[in-house]
Amino acid sequence: MKTYKIAAIPGDGIGTEVISAGVDVLHALAARDGSFTFHVDHFDWGGDYYQRHGRMMPEDGRAQIRHHDAILFGSAGHPDIPDHVTLWGLRLAICQPFDQYANVRPTRILPGITSPLRNVAGKELDWVIVRENSEGEYSGVGGRVHQGLPIEVATDVSVMTRAGVQRILRYAFKLARSRPRKLLTVVTKSNAQRHAMVMWDEIAAEVAAEFPDVAWDKMLVVAMTLRMVIKPETIDTVVATNLHADILSDLAAALAGSLGIAPTGNINPEGEFPSMFEPIHGSAFDIMGKGIANPVGTFWSAVMLLEHIGEPAAASRLMRAIEQVTADRRFHTPDLGGQARTADVTAAVIAAIQGSND
Ligand code: NAD
Ligand code: MN
Repeated sequence: MKTYKIAAIPGDGIGTEVISAGVDVLHALAARDGSFTFHVDHFDWGGDYYQRHGRMMPEDGRAQIRHHDAILFGSAGHPDIPDHVTLWGLRLAICQPFDQYANVRPTRILPGITSPLRNVAGKELDWVIVRENSEGEYSGVGGRVHQGLPIEVATDVSVMTRAGVQRILRYAFKLARSRPRKLLTVVTKSNAQRHAMVMWDEIAAEVAAEFPDVAWDKMLVVAMTLRMVIKPETIDTVVATNLHADILSDLAAALAGSLGIAPTGNINPEGEFPSMFEPIHGSAFDIMGKGIANPVGTFWSAVMLLEHIGEPAAASRLMRAIEQVTADRRFHTPDLGGQARTADVTAAVIAAIQGSND
């Protein structure tokens, strides 16, 4: 029997609550399937670890997870530690060296969930946003001098490489081609940012020539926010820079009903390093420890993990179980206007997995 090695990194806040639910669901799926199992290693890295050891993860942390089949990640963010320390010390310390350059964020309105957009339901909103995840505005290049003095200077330099832009565009065109509508929107801001963004537009046209069967269009990021709200049905696959897609995908999550539902995969497409799957939300300090975090974003991320490791049947079984549960308002957590607890939703999804036939 095949055993997949999963590294679970719950991190901080509700990350610990939703990842424990996600691991329970993975084990239930393996039991229902019968042809594979999961070996899950838990890593207690994050803010509490930082307070004990002065760093978010051990020095050899990456080596410890280097040969796992996939990583299931919760959230980096602690009330008593600055956000840039937790983010760079854990999440980006994994994403960047593991070259997880494609951040993939599907958005759909699940059954039973109401979008804040009027007149939108089901099929009219079915997007995948591809975010460049290795360079651009979040490259980490920059610095501060004369700190605290009136002449203080600070820079965050956006770095765009031809190789980096080419590979994310190729990934996005391929993904668009695998979806029924074969439609890609390339988002830039090449009117105001007249160097790197103009290069994106040029490379997009070059890469598009390799994919004659994919229809594509270009859009400035500002106009894209309008199109997402006003004409969501005209969008399918979207590709944008690290910063732009970060913002667009939070908007997408809100339009799909709740941040608590949205999943993401940080993908190393070549499979040289493990890929990492996580709900897009953070530590949610306002609800942590209360047992009411919505675990659906983590379950949906587990669907992406299963697709990635090559278990598509288990992935669809889990997606069907999620949809069966969201369709029933008794299992809506407070972020969706309901009263269910994390444990209720988890138990319902596991019951749906166990009761699924085929
Ligand atoms: P957040 O996602 O933690 O919370 C935003 C709002 O959404 C809160 O009101 C929260 O209660 C709600 N929410 C989020 N997830 C939910 C869920 N599963 N169920 C129910 N409600 C949910 O964003 P924030 O408040 O901007 O950040 C809090 C901390 O998390 C910060 O330290 C930030 O740096 C960190 N963070 C980490 C990640 C990550 O690790 N990928 C992502 C975002 C934020
Ligand atoms: Mn996260």
